[in-house]
Amino acid sequence: MTEIFTGSFTQQEPIPEEGIAAALEVMRSGRLHRYNLAPGEVGEAALLEREFAAYTGARYALAVASGGYAMATALRAIGVGPGEKVLTNAFTLAPVPGAIASVNAVPVFVGVTEGLTIDLDDLAAKADQSSVLMLSHMRGHLADMDRLLQICKAAGITVIEDCAHTMGAAWRGRPSGRDGLIGCYSMQTYKHVNSGEGGFLITDDAEVMARAIMLSGSYMLYGRNGTPPPEEVFERVKYVTPNVSGRMDNLRAAILRPQLARLDTQCAAWNARYRTVEEGLRGTPGLRIVERPEEETYVGSSIQFLLLDWGDDAIADVIARCLARGVELKWFGGAEPTGFTSRYDSWRYAPSERMPATDRILKGIVDMRLPLTFSLDDCAQIARIIRAEVGAVWQARAG
Ligand SMILES: *Cc1c(COP(=O)(O)O)cnc(C)c1O
Repeated sequence: MTEIFTGSFTQQEPIPEEGIAAALEVMRSGRLHRYNLAPGEVGEAALLEREFAAYTGARYALAVASGGYAMATALRAIGVGPGEKVLTNAFTLAPVPGAIASVNAVPVFVGVTEGLTIDLDDLAAKADQSSVLMLSHMRGHLADMDRLLQICKAAGITVIEDCAHTMGAAWRGRPSGRDGLIGCYSMQTYKHVNSGEGGFLITDDAEVMARAIMLSGSYMLYGRNGTPPPEEVFERVKYVTPNVSGRMDNLRAAILRPQLARLDTQCAAWNARYRTVEEGLRGTPGLRIVERPEEETYVGSSIQFLLLDWGDDAIADVIARCLARGVELKWFGGAEPTGFTSRYDSWRYAPSERMPATDRILKGIVDMRLPLTFSLDDCAQIARIIRAEVGAVWQARAG
């Protein structure tokens, strides 16, 4: 009998009942705007910021409208301007080069390794081209952050971290987003907490945070934020920082707070699913597992494997055969961007030179989401299906 998987790869869990109750309360109050507060009230958005600052250990946290907005705000807050070059990953998603383009800066793409992290040799080679690195921890893979920081420190490069896939992750115990000057996160439905849309920006730097708060559209109500820097810092920036509205609202914040409280439990649940799929795939001929470094505390909300040096037709065949059995795989190497996939050469507004070593890896990356609505049995079944179909195509090719 041929097994068919019937679950949905895009179905997330419901919002916790506590979050629904808190959201109803906000709606009943009518005070959805974060600065619309009753006397003495600390709104849901401000409470969320305090809780996220405490969770990450950052001095300051700002909740905003999206992850992409957080990244663009980070670039503006450190003064990246038109025409300036910004180093970033060749293997990432469209909002990353998009954030750079939104300030009319120019991405300089850095290659990817077989571990799916930024290629630190390529970064070192390109370090003299820019003073800013927008580092994307794409699909939750953390580079050797110690070496990365050494390279950037030596070259005078400011690091902004895109932690859309690493909320809850860490490198040698340091929470992801705390190594750079600024960490950015997304609360969009497919990330680790879900308010439909949303983003965080964290930093220890008072002036960067004061600018970010002004940029986000605080008018002169910044004192109502959850973790505002001291007044004298705002005095320095408030007349010269434009308002580029992108605030978080109390409704979404209410939905997020209980999710943040149980984030670590959720991460453990993702990792149990990840390890089940990983074990099921290990040893499949022609398929390479992406090994996770010991220093990395990852969050397995998605899994990747490599069909390295396979032909386009064979990879497309694997994807089609798995899909016919209910297993939705994403192929990052596909020439045309589809759904959420895309390659650096798909972003035609940004100039790029061919990177053959990176192209070879991108071409072989196969990606799959692991929503928490999957049981461990589901994950074992998914792995059996992939193993069988990769095996069938591999054998046909060999035979
Ligand atoms: C989702 C995502 C973002 C931010 O996305 P928004 O949709 O703007 O919240 C940034 N980087 C990566 C790699 C992402 O996947």
